[in-house]
This record gives sequence, C-alpha cells and structure tokens, in this order.
Amino acid sequence: MNNAIPYKIYLTEEQMPKAWYNLRADMKNKPAPLINPGTGQPVTFEDLKPVFCDELIKQELDETTPFIPIPDDIRSFYKMYRPSPLVRAYCLEEKLKTPAKIYYKFEGNNTSGSHKLNSAIAQAFYAKHQGLKGVTTETGAGQWGTALSMACGYLGLDCQVYMVKVSYEQKPFRREVMRTYGAKVTPSPSDTTDVGRKILAEFPGTTGSLGCAISEAVEAAVTQEGYRYVLGSVLNQVLLHQSVIGLETKAAMDLYGIKPDVIIGCAGGGSNLGGLIAPFMGEKLRGEADYQIIAVEPAACPSLTRGVYAYDFCDTGHVCPMAKMYTLGSGFIPAPNHAGGLRYHGMSTTLSQLYHDGLMEARAVDQISVFEAAEEFARVEGILPAPESSHAIRVALDEAIRCRETGEEKTILFGLTGTGYFDLVAYEKFHNGEMSDYIPTDEELQASFATLPKIG
Ligand SMILES: *Cc1c(COP(=O)(O)O)cnc(C)c1O
Repeated sequence: MNNAIPYKIYLTEEQMPKAWYNLRADMKNKPAPLINPGTGQPVTFEDLKPVFCDELIKQELDETTPFIPIPDDIRSFYKMYRPSPLVRAYCLEEKLKTPAKIYYKFEGNNTSGSHKLNSAIAQAFYAKHQGLKGVTTETGAGQWGTALSMACGYLGLDCQVYMVKVSYEQKPFRREVMRTYGAKVTPSPSDTTDVGRKILAEFPGTTGSLGCAISEAVEAAVTQEGYRYVLGSVLNQVLLHQSVIGLETKAAMDLYGIKPDVIIGCAGGGSNLGGLIAPFMGEKLRGEADYQIIAVEPAACPSLTRGVYAYDFCDTGHVCPMAKMYTLGSGFIPAPNHAGGLRYHGMSTTLSQLYHDGLMEARAVDQISVFEAAEEFARVEGILPAPESSHAIRVALDEAIRCRETGEEKTILFGLTGTGYFDLVAYEKFHNGEMSDYIPTDEELQASFATLPKIG
C-alpha cells in the first residue's frame, strides 16, 4: 500500500478548493472578540472601516459561516503557483531509519518563497475590488512584504511596506525583490510616522520589531486617502485564506486514504499552522476524528509555551485593537540575534483559544537545534528550508526518531512553509559556529507582562 503512494501528491486544478474553511464556525468556545481600546467594547465593522477593507472586515468578524467561496480571480491567481505538492518524505524516512511515515506540504514554490502569497492575493484583491489606491503593511523577515508586493504588482495597486530594521539591514535582497514588484520599502522604526518618531525617541538605536512596524503601517494607512492596512498573519481573515493549505492537504491525503496521527507546524502569528490544521481541527471539534497537533515556536519568542492568555495590544504603538491571545506583552522585542521570523509577541486568537482548550500542544525549540534539523532535511530532501519552517522540521524529526525508538508507525504531517535563500547569513553563522540563542529569563517576561492592559 505504501509503495502505491507517490513521492509527490498533486491535486488537479479541478480538485483545488473552491471555498475557504472558517474554522471558527465549528468552535464551541469562539475566540474572544477584538476590543476597541477607546470604548472597551468589542470592535464593530464601523470601528475597523478606516483601517481594513470592507470585505475583509466581514471575514474577520464572521464566526458562523463555515465555507466562504474563493472568488474566481483569486482562484485563477492560485492556479499560477498552486496546488502545492504534498510530499512523502521517503528519503528522510530512510535516512532516519524510522517506521514513521512523514509527509510535508511544501508552500515555498513561488517567488515570495512562502505560504504568505495565499493571503496576500486575497487581501489585495478585496482592496482593488473596493476601488482603493493602495495598501500599507509591515514585514518582518520579508516574506509577507514580498508576497504582498507580488499581489499588488499583479493587480496594479500601490504597496507601502514598513520593514523591521534588523531585517532591512540583514536581508537587502528581499528589499530588491519587493521593489521589482513596485513596492516602496521603509525601514522601521522610521521618522515618516508619528509613532515611529516616538519609538525612536524612546528607544534610540532599536532594531525594531513587528509590533512597531505594524503601528507605523496602520498610521500610514489611516492618514492617506484611499489606503487601507493589510496584515500577513495573526488575524482570523488570514487564517481563513490560509485554510487553502489544509484543504489541499486533506484532499490529497483522502485520495490515498492517508490519515495523519500528528500534525506539526511552526507558529509565528499562527497563520500557516491555523491554515494547515483547519480541516483536521474541524473534524476534531465535530468529534469525527482525533489528531495530535503541535505548534512549534522559537525559545527566543515563546508566546504559547511561556506567555500569558490575556488581552493585549497587537502592536507596540497601541494603535490597533486589543486581542485576547497568548502573549509576551506588546513591548517584548526578541533578541536581534534570533535569525528566523516567528518574532511576533502574540498569537492568533483562534489558535490561542484552541490551545487554551487543550485541543493542541506547543513546543519551544532553540535556534541551533532548528538549523541542525534544517541541514539534515536539506541534505536528503533537497529543499533548502526557511528557518521558520525548520522549527516544524525539528519537531517532525524528534517525533520520527521517537517512533524509531518505540517502533510506532505513526503518520507525521508537517507544514514546510518556505525556502531559505534569503536566510543565508543565518546559515553562514550556523556553519561558522557563530550562532547563539537568547532565551528570555522569567524576570524579563514578568516585566513585560506587567505592561499588559487591564481588561476584564
Ligand atoms: C511568516 C512565515 C512563517 C510564520 O508565520 P505564521 O503566520 O505563523 O504562519 C512561517 N514560515 C514562513 C516561511 C514564513 O514566511
């Protein structure tokens, strides 16, 4: 039976999903609503209207509609680079001498090099549809900015990207890819916004953070006519668009009667993991099947494993609504020597609720062990993985090795979110033995928690 399963399973275009799946519809305990910091009340459509596109606000606030049709124009764009392959990691299994069966869903087959394009094209499409001139956003490691630039370049929308300064400096080539697609890229914090100037005055020499870049991008959107802000992770609408990953994976597995026992994904803001697990978690919530689901985060930015579940600001400048999530505090800035993305202080409200309800687990892994896993994977499976994705590889390897020891023939599925061609400075540090990791102390985290807003 196993030999009948090809190295790569591709769906046909006809088999690709025609609707996104909204996991919240099946959650008994819904994620807590976003709160307007001005009123202390759940945000309304009107509150969000100056910031986000209308259709995306509807998706953000919709927790009852299970399937939302994918507009034809977005589906056509998806066909340019999807379906993505579901790969049976035969070579890795052999190398590890494990009885486990390992599968990964590879989202790196597009120029942005990650899954982020799945939501970028959706968000840009709705902005265009509303007749807007352009969008603003932040980018950390650069994948989201690149994906959004591609989507905007395709649709002829203006794209303004605030890029976390440390990445802007470490990854100049990313910037050039974005400019190729027509985006304007500004290192953050910058002196182009009030909030940026304020942060610079308070923390001179800061290397920036995602939370800080978000504040700048939001300010830029609300102060320019015909602009809205878009975000590449964390929000429910992003998890919704990313459900295409999980829906394709499930459809491909169903073709061959495969059922994963363990599903693993890296978690920054939670979008790829939320997308990958969506249909599986749906079955779990409806009591139709059970899966072990593991979120993997960096030990340097451990929001699920060491954060608190509380209302917090989504950005450093406190201009965004507040979200109830596992958080390290909006002022938390991970050490600049942490190479990968996954640097956001909080976590998707949906994943936070699922984790809180015990429906998924989380593990934190250190940077060196992540790069060891990346290298081991690259040598047998060929793909040079992104550092973010390699967090998932680390835990997939750990699980497969454990199966070797126990003799269990588990089926392991993980999300391989992207490629690491723009992360070669980090690979270089790793190869030269110069990589270090900074894991925050309890005292540092307590100090950060003390700044959480006091909400019900
Ligand atoms: C952005 C990114 C992530 C993390 O973001 P999530 O929203 O948690 O998915 C993971 N891998 C890659 C390659 C990324 O670009």
